[in-house]
Amino acid sequence: MLAQRDYSRLVELVWKKAPSKEIKQVAHQIQKTLNPHPAEQMQLNVPSMNQLTLEGVQHKYKETVLFFPSQGQTCHSYCTYCFRWAQFVGIKELQFQSNEIKHLVDYLKPRRKVSNVLFTGGDPLIMKTEILRRYIEPLLIPELDHITTIRIGTKATSYWPYRFVTDSDSDELLRLFEKCQKAGKTIAIMAHYSHPRELETSISQVAVQRIRNSGAIIRCQAPLIRKVNDDSSLWRDLWSMQVKLGMIPYYMFIERDTGPKNYFEIPLHKSLEIFQNAYKQVSGLARTVRGPSMSATPGKVVIDGVSHINKEKVFVLKFIQARNPDWVGRPFFAKFDPTATWLSDLCPAFGKQNFFFEETPEPIERALP
Ligand SMILES: *Cc1c(COP(=O)(O)O)cnc(C)c1O
Ligand code: SF4
Repeated sequence: MLAQRDYSRLVELVWKKAPSKEIKQVAHQIQKTLNPHPAEQMQLNVPSMNQLTLEGVQHKYKETVLFFPSQGQTCHSYCTYCFRWAQFVGIKELQFQSNEIKHLVDYLKPRRKVSNVLFTGGDPLIMKTEILRRYIEPLLIPELDHITTIRIGTKATSYWPYRFVTDSDSDELLRLFEKCQKAGKTIAIMAHYSHPRELETSISQVAVQRIRNSGAIIRCQAPLIRKVNDDSSLWRDLWSMQVKLGMIPYYMFIERDTGPKNYFEIPLHKSLEIFQNAYKQVSGLARTVRGPSMSATPGKVVIDGVSHINKEKVFVLKFIQARNPDWVGRPFFAKFDPTATWLSDLCPAFGKQNFFFEETPEPIERALP
């Protein structure tokens, strides 16, 4: 999956039986060139409070704060296309993580515009319920009544559905979800399903049922990946099955510009075609899904369509989430480019020099009232 040049470098070392230390060194060099922190997340998203940098926290969009619990920074399996691969390669300075839930609570208290916290990783549901509880329960205090939803990003519903059914602490986990509901917070399981196959086993369906019975809701998201799910009938089936099982289709993402992306990426116009072909074959109940969406530096940009305006063929785009909330929903246009695979490949249409968001300054304020 590596680019030819990187691949050849490693193959050569292996063939000449280079010492493993040397191979590792070259592998590390290559890793560093693969954009381990896409969308400038290290520089732009990590907040600070009274001169303290909040490790393991990202706050990019006003309403949502991300938390990366230390013990949740592995996964039930490793997807070759993982956009969080830098969490897993054993290089400390590349990792986001924290076990300081107190700092998060202090950060959230005065930020009344934050409505939800997203536990992410890795996979937070790698953690035993006992550990997860230490992160979640502190959020249930009255001073945080503005936090109405706790999201948990996970692949466990697919890769380890036993987490909700037969694991020794699965009942306890569901009781924890119920406790959050009683405290007035919705638990939203942000489930990663990339293929309808993942929903076919009875154990995965039982897991879904049990999560729903706890009062939690399940929203589904996945990236569009070449050779994994680049087929519209598969997305149609995936969304339909999610609706059938009582889940909510949420996002279709475009493969991010990190890791061995050349292998997995799909031209934007092709991604749009796959999305639209699937979207037009499902009922409105499944059209809660949005995409294809790029999580880029300024925000989440969705491709709405391809159009001809003044004889110019253009991509019609808009932000569905942005650093600057004023950008959300405003249509903008890029020159059609059949080879473009990411926002950074696109040029403004109509001979313009910049996209509008490149001309407006970003707000620095982070959801303080
Ligand atoms: C996607 C994302 C969110 C959540 O956005 P929603 O549109 O509310 O689901 C929050 N923070 C970051 C950094 C994200 O990429
Ligand atoms: S499930 Fe998500 S976090 Fe885990 S390896 Fe796959 S893409 Fe990465």
